Amino acid sequence: MTKRILVRSVTGILIVLIAVAAIVFYRAMQLSHDIPEVDQVTYDDIDLDRAVERLSQALQFRTVSTQELTFLYRPEFDRFIDFLEDEYPEVHNTLERERVNGYTLLFKWEGTDPDLPAAMFQGHYDVVPVEPGTEDDWTHPPFSGNISDGFVWGRGAIDDKSGIFSYLEALDYLIAKGYQPGRTMYVALNHDEEIGGRMGARKVADLMLERETDIAFVADEGMPVAQEIMEGLEHPIAMIGVAEKGYVSVELNIQKEGGHSSMPPRLTTIGVLSSAIKNLKENPMTGRFAGLLRETFEPLAPDLPLAYRLALANLWLFGGMVEERLGYIPHTNAALRTTTAPTMFHAGVKENVLPQTARAVVNFRIHPDDSVQDVLDYVRETIVNDDIEIRVMEGAREPSPITPTSSESFQAMKHTIHEIFPGIPVAPSMFLAATDARHFPEVTENLLRFRPIRARPDDAGRIHGTDERIGIENFGEMIAFYIRMMKNTTSGQEFNTGQFSE
Ligand SMILES: [Zn+2]
Repeated sequence: MTKRILVRSVTGILIVLIAVAAIVFYRAMQLSHDIPEVDQVTYDDIDLDRAVERLSQALQFRTVSTQELTFLYRPEFDRFIDFLEDEYPEVHNTLERERVNGYTLLFKWEGTDPDLPAAMFQGHYDVVPVEPGTEDDWTHPPFSGNISDGFVWGRGAIDDKSGIFSYLEALDYLIAKGYQPGRTMYVALNHDEEIGGRMGARKVADLMLERETDIAFVADEGMPVAQEIMEGLEHPIAMIGVAEKGYVSVELNIQKEGGHSSMPPRLTTIGVLSSAIKNLKENPMTGRFAGLLRETFEPLAPDLPLAYRLALANLWLFGGMVEERLGYIPHTNAALRTTTAPTMFHAGVKENVLPQTARAVVNFRIHPDDSVQDVLDYVRETIVNDDIEIRVMEGAREPSPITPTSSESFQAMKHTIHEIFPGIPVAPSMFLAATDARHFPEVTENLLRFRPIRARPDDAGRIHGTDERIGIENFGEMIAFYIRMMKNTTSGQEFNTGQFSE
């Protein structure tokens, strides 16, 4: 090769590299928010002191759901329902109330135009127990409803009594103002969400189907207004959960001849099953930075540090790298793919006996792109051993359908967030836990899982954990949010999606 050709090809490569770098930077700089200019909406005459007092009292009721309680009589729940009647007489006078399976309360506020598909707001007043032995770790006792340092403290403060009390306060406010919905509104206060919702939400969904009630959307608990969700990202972001993952536990069983451990064969039950589990863990199902996950990141991207922006704006170049990076962090990994969690492993009865059987259970949370069958096919292919018997355990369910973000109800909720939390981007996202909304896909395709709770990363541990609490100012925002959301969705024929003002 002559010197001239060498210089020419090096120059050529340099030009290509500079061009690529220029494109990469240009695209990163192009990232910008699309937060519409919206007039902030406030309701200064909300009686927040009174609302906080009622929430504090509500947290003192031990409306605890435990697995054994499903069908039992629940006196504390009755007392709680009496308390609601005493505290919200106008809500009970103005709305029709139906007791579903005894303890779930279904309120109906008939609209002036009953032919319009109804709006539905849902939440739950049952709570998880406080783990025995951790009561003293609480700054204030878990059922004290203590009000201090700008918070209301107690089990259920986040999940989900602040949610349903925002509904009740919003209804009380609207009634006091003489509001009359054009569209019928349902408010369901469910009683067994924490143990699967089969007696509450499932029954409400069945009633809606039986009565052929047309439901435009169901707003339920769900994703928060999240702060500091990623390193370098200070800007809060409001996420609306538009999908829930599916669920399947797979049991793996192996049987072999047992025997004395002094002359073990090459393959033992424990050995075979361990390597099957190892294969599953080392080769997880494929994750994709696409579809919903990509939509979640889009509104976040402009606020991220430069390196992230470069990568996210140039997925044609860095897509694989982004997937790998997200795969390392448990919560982003959970949004990226169907996750694999070995949860049980049993074998052996004595230290010098080879066990004849070994059994393991692996729990999978199924990404909306996969199905229960896909998981089974994947397990079969990955464990590469026909001696292992594979069995699907009870309780499997497919991932939820994805709520269309183009729907009027999604757009109305997004608009309401912009009105109450100005300047905060809104993103559709996956909800990684489960809600009562999962019982409603046949009722409506518009399931909106969102609570206007401002959450920081350390708040995640308070939900179902110690020191659960809700900020008083934030509770005021929640009430304002639902007043506005109810108005935006039930005032007239159309939803207010920002296309027109009141
Ligand atoms: Zn909940």
